[in-house]
Amino acid sequence: MNNPLQIYNSMSRKKEVFEPANPPFVGLYACGPTVYGDAHLGHARQAITFDVLFRYLSHLGYKVRYVRNITDVGHLENDADEGEDKIAKKARLEQLEPMEVVQHYMNDYHRNMRDLGVLPPSIEPRATGHIIEQQDLVQRIMDAGYAYESNGSVYFDVEKYSKKYTYGKLSGRKTDDLLSNTRDLEGQSEKRSPLDFALWKKAGPEHIMRWPSQWSDGFPGWHLECSAMSTRYLGDTIDIHGGGMDLLFPHHECEIAQNVAGYGSEHVRYWMHNNMITINGQKMGRSLGNFITLDQLFAGEHELLEKAFHPMTIRLFILQAHYRSTLDFSNEALLASEKGLARLMDAVEVLNKIAPDTYGSVKASELLEKCQAAMNDDMNTPLVVSYLFDGVRTINSIHEKRIGIDRENLELMKKIYDDFVFSVLGLARPQKQSGGDALANDLIDSVLTVRMGAKERKEWTTADEIRDALQKLGITIKDRKDGFEWEID
Ligand code: ZN
Repeated sequence: MNNPLQIYNSMSRKKEVFEPANPPFVGLYACGPTVYGDAHLGHARQAITFDVLFRYLSHLGYKVRYVRNITDVGHLENDADEGEDKIAKKARLEQLEPMEVVQHYMNDYHRNMRDLGVLPPSIEPRATGHIIEQQDLVQRIMDAGYAYESNGSVYFDVEKYSKKYTYGKLSGRKTDDLLSNTRDLEGQSEKRSPLDFALWKKAGPEHIMRWPSQWSDGFPGWHLECSAMSTRYLGDTIDIHGGGMDLLFPHHECEIAQNVAGYGSEHVRYWMHNNMITINGQKMGRSLGNFITLDQLFAGEHELLEKAFHPMTIRLFILQAHYRSTLDFSNEALLASEKGLARLMDAVEVLNKIAPDTYGSVKASELLEKCQAAMNDDMNTPLVVSYLFDGVRTINSIHEKRIGIDRENLELMKKIYDDFVFSVLGLARPQKQSGGDALANDLIDSVLTVRMGAKERKEWTTADEIRDALQKLGITIKDRKDGFEWEID
């Protein structure tokens, strides 16, 4: 019997046995993207981390309501209260309506996620669709006495809140330290303390995305949407709230304060945060020239890339690191994942063709227990992947008739690979992903059949021309006695 699922709770800073408030239902909320630019590796890691959690909880039999929001209000740079809204800036530069910018990047994000095998969430609420809920929360916080209006904007009163509650309990930051580290920001004079954060901002004349309110024509603060939308769709108690480590402070810290002040209680039972991606050991950043978007990665169009990488290679690469560790991107690492993925998928294909023996030494239940134990240990996907690779060796040994497997164990082995490779880890065989790829495979086969005919007629020039033309497309042909084999590099 395996241990139950344990997850690392960022609030208690230790692994805890996962017990949902109302089993079999699980409420899962993860912060989604701000849609004003192309999705990059960081987006992929966050989405894949919580996609695997969503898949695994469902696999365990829970009824999961997974809410992942879209930030389309265009909040300001980080938590600065002044400056230009990013979506509005993009819209102005490209002469688009802000919602065109939002729609464009949202469509791209969805396409990227589909290619990466990320399942759509149960609900995908947009901040602009929940302005009323956000205004209601601002009013609740004001009524409770933890927010004040200043020049048409509304700020959260961190100092007052800190007298009764602990601001900083998730991130472990102390308000005194935060105060001494605060730079003087422009516009901060509106606030009683530099720690106070905006719940509602009065819009300047250049601000296109704006809504009327009793305080001013303006827009909600960045942190507000996640408090309002998670409560709207998951109620007062959310089992798991996820996001990237970069959101832990101030975003999630402020979210907790808003919920406590406005709705009367802390809402999240387990906080989970995935770590960041580095590129060749460096932090990823536009200014560092190592910022790679997913589209560039899939197309191989970036100076740091040796070649294009299939989305499934990226997915396996991400799963080969624990979500709480940093993950370093490099061509070598991706090439290794690419080889690993091919090996895994080949083994699955072999497994489905194996005939059982009457007697066999393979005990599939051992592999199953190891995979379950690894997933239950705070989603240790790299360990699951390594066990599945151990199993690949077993599969190949069975295939080569060096060891035997009986019917019962063969069926269990197939189920393990089906469950863990496809359902839980969400991997797929790259070539067979879409109808277009299947057609391409058939086309290559037909061209090579024509070439085989040419060879039989001793038309060597034609045969070589076909081989060279395919070679240019990255297709390597291996002639066999009874036909041909080919592979795409
Ligand atoms: Zn959020």
